[in-house]
Amino acid sequence: MRFEHKVSIVTGAARGIGYEIASILAREGSTVVLADVAPDGLDAAIERLRSGSCGTRGACGCQGSGRRPCVESAVVNVGDVNAVRSMVEGVLARHGRIDVLVNNAGICPTTPVEEIGEAEWDKVLDVNLKGPFFLAQAVIPAMKAQRYGKIINIASIAGEMGALVAGCHYSVSKAGMLTLTKVLARRLAPWGVNVNSVAPGTIDSVMTADWSDEQRQMLTARIPLGRLGDPVDIANAVAFLASDESSFITGATIDVNGGALMR
Ligand code: NAP
Repeated sequence: MRFEHKVSIVTGAARGIGYEIASILAREGSTVVLADVAPDGLDAAIERLRSGSCGTRGACGCQGSGRRPCVESAVVNVGDVNAVRSMVEGVLARHGRIDVLVNNAGICPTTPVEEIGEAEWDKVLDVNLKGPFFLAQAVIPAMKAQRYGKIINIASIAGEMGALVAGCHYSVSKAGMLTLTKVLARRLAPWGVNVNSVAPGTIDSVMTADWSDEQRQMLTARIPLGRLGDPVDIANAVAFLASDESSFITGATIDVNGGALMR
């Protein structure tokens, strides 16, 4: 129960990596706000978490413990700064604190460089980079007042080496997130707030499900551990960074990529 009495916000939590992050935080005691743009997906995610049919291979929070995970949903487009601010205000009004922010929501078009239009460029940067900045900005006053907080940004191997399949705008947004992590880590360290990134390699989720067999085989062939990642692989690294086990780590990036990029 590493997160007992903690309050966490996880964006993009209706499915995939965000869902698994929310699941592990809730399982270990946190109140978790699942924030996503998809209301139906959120309802289903909350239902799965509360019912025990969470798909975590029998490890869901409520099974056997008799304890219902303390989870709630917030429908929000993270690219909408006003919506982000009012969501954070609501969480503070209801719970009085925010201990963990996981900036996970992201979009990943694979549009070729020559075909990326201005609107698409702006949308990717809004969701993947502007949103995380303004979410962090919104939780900072509470974390400073608490003299405690964990901000975890879900970046990507694409931001470290340039994507092989995902779009140029996606790689650029994720590279920006790595720098955002370092700047926030420096600024917030005096208040005991840790800011770190997790950089996934290719993960088997809806985001990559419609990539061609050839693309997925090409990517898998580049992974020494010989498989695509599972969303749970990322959630486990996030949980470590969200816990007090990582209290001396800030400004860092944990690569969870099966060895696809070694530094
Ligand atoms: P996913 O399966 O596509 O899930 C992303 C979730 O975020 C969806 O529920 C989506 O809702 C939601 N979302 C999209 N735009 C949003 C917005 N503007 N505001 C709030 N929520 C929004 O993706 P995933 O694979 O779990 O990826 C999660 C994170 O990991 C992303 O930041 C991604 O870039 C990063 N990542 C993934 C991989 C990978 O291989 N999968 C690799 C490296 C990094 P909708 O369905 O309604 O759009």
